[in-house]
Amino acid sequence: MRILLVEDEQELAGAVQTVLQHQGHVVDHCSDGLEGWTLLSGELASYELAIMDWMLPGLSGPELCRRARAAGLDLPVLLLTARAETADRVEGLDAGADDYLSKPFAMEELLARVRALQRRQPRYREPVLEVGPYRFDPQSGQLQVSSSDGVVTIPLAGKELQLMAYFLEHPGQIIPGSRLRNQLWDLHQDPVSNVVAAQVRLLRRKLAGHGLDSPIETVPSRGYRFHAQLPGEP
Ligand code: CA
Repeated sequence: MRILLVEDEQELAGAVQTVLQHQGHVVDHCSDGLEGWTLLSGELASYELAIMDWMLPGLSGPELCRRARAAGLDLPVLLLTARAETADRVEGLDAGADDYLSKPFAMEELLARVRALQRRQPRYREPVLEVGPYRFDPQSGQLQVSSSDGVVTIPLAGKELQLMAYFLEHPGQIIPGSRLRNQLWDLHQDPVSNVVAAQVRLLRRKLAGHGLDSPIETVPSRGYRFHAQLPGEP
């Protein structure tokens, strides 16, 4: 994606830019809200995402966002904010921001938000994930697992699809249940505390129904780990 980053903290801006570029994004950076507006509204600009700080010289993040919306720009906007008060958040969303991230944040969290905003783009095609014997096309929901016995195809949908995609994006890592919950569930919609465990159980059952041993290990009191090797396979 082509991303505009408007952030006046140079150190943070540099880190964000590096991390996004590492993911294959093209990032233009400026430190001033007015300059951000010039870039955003420029004739040649075709940004697919804007990340803007709240407090900026020139124009504030919400002002810049409001101006972009008034001009008919409908790109996703992620606001970075050191403020945590509810009223401020409402102001940011009222200004037309799609999401906000409170400082300080982990780069992993930023990347997760960027991916989520990317998925909302109508022309965005989710990449096929290939890890070990697993090949997963989130677009069609088809999970293919190759073993010496052949290829098994398993259709996934809804939360099981999202969960499998998240595991395939983080093979071998111990992922706390709380992180899965934050990433995949709207906390206001699903206040059930064991929703992650229940969904993991359903996914395991689905894989077992197709003759597969579960690649998802429960690591007691730490979370879940997805194994990209099939047991007994080289
Ligand atoms: Ca600032």
